[in-house]
Amino acid sequence: MSLRVGIVGGGQLARMMIAPAVELGVEVSVLAEQPGMAAELAASAVGDYRDAATVLAFAKNVDVVTFDHEHVPQEVLRALVDAGIAVHPGPDALRFAQDKLEMRARLAELGMPQPDWAAISDAAGLQSFLDAHGGRAVVKTPRGGYDGKGVRVVSTTDEAADWIGALDDGAQLLVEELVDFTRELAQQVARRPSGEVAVYPVVETVQRDGVCAEVIAPAPHAGARLGRVAAGIGTTIAEGLGVTGMLAVELFETADERLLVNELAMRPHNSGHWSQDGAVTGQFEQHVRAVLDLPLGDTAPRAAWATMINILGGPATDSLQSRFAAVLAEHPSVKVHTYGKAPRPGRKVGHVNAWGEDLDSVVYEARAAAAFFED
Ligand code: ADP
Repeated sequence: MSLRVGIVGGGQLARMMIAPAVELGVEVSVLAEQPGMAAELAASAVGDYRDAATVLAFAKNVDVVTFDHEHVPQEVLRALVDAGIAVHPGPDALRFAQDKLEMRARLAELGMPQPDWAAISDAAGLQSFLDAHGGRAVVKTPRGGYDGKGVRVVSTTDEAADWIGALDDGAQLLVEELVDFTRELAQQVARRPSGEVAVYPVVETVQRDGVCAEVIAPAPHAGARLGRVAAGIGTTIAEGLGVTGMLAVELFETADERLLVNELAMRPHNSGHWSQDGAVTGQFEQHVRAVLDLPLGDTAPRAAWATMINILGGPATDSLQSRFAAVLAEHPSVKVHTYGKAPRPGRKVGHVNAWGEDLDSVVYEARAAAAFFED
């Protein structure tokens, strides 16, 4: 009988696990939030991932439960574990991807390099952090943020007054030093429950308006030292937090060549889409292998350079369909991945991967193909 993976969450990350799972002969089912989601092409149930009974019923027919996002509440995760269901990543690891304050505290215990930070519960706490950090800081809601929502650069406490005012009793905000980074990097690592770890090359990520726009793999101008340090950070976090499946560590690189951990994702991540076409084993296949505790695949790149350009929905909402054939005709050497999502402005609806021996032409080709969709 085939191995069976159940994915909670029906977005594009779940969707992109389906093809490699099918190729491996692994059955996939998806618990989608609503009908018509990106991953609906796998056998889907529709239900509320915050409801333990719904998730338990979904999990009955699979060998392992994994995720397309990190929002499944701890009580639901624990109910699965208590029912004897294999959950990867498990609740004890996932809590550090669910709550940025818990993550900062745990990474400090592990001795990981990170921005100066504090937990604050009132304006006085924020003011003293501002005073100690040159009058500017980054305030973050610990939970529920994505694509820059829940992140605010402030120089006065007034600018965070709404968030401070909305705090429940005992709740706190995360405040961080405003890092003057030269670029953002991401380190991905896969880890099996039985301990094997596989490390991908560190990549450069470029964000626009808080959303990942482009990724270059490996990160240009990354010497052996940078690669080693990033790989060490990824491995230490995967092992220290007991992560199973794919882990992405978002990093800031500073002018004096330090790497600081920004945040963690415990699932396939936008920074790893390049590996679908650019590495021997793509991150989606690797995640499926890891959560099933199967031997991990080779993470080596297939070419000197790979790049990934996100396709965001533009004003011309039908552009994906209307321009699809033209893009394929004009750019036969790239791979176009689309998510079956309605292209609302700013929404990630697909990406283009390209790879080769010359970085400039790889980036040019991928950008040109992605740009077709956007105006
Ligand atoms: P999200 O969870 O919404 O992705 P992040 O914590 O990754 O939020 O922050 C989003 C972006 O904000 C980062 O990619 C980075 O560009 C910027 N940012 C976050 N924290 C800091 C910081 N301490 N210093 C400078 N820029 C930051």
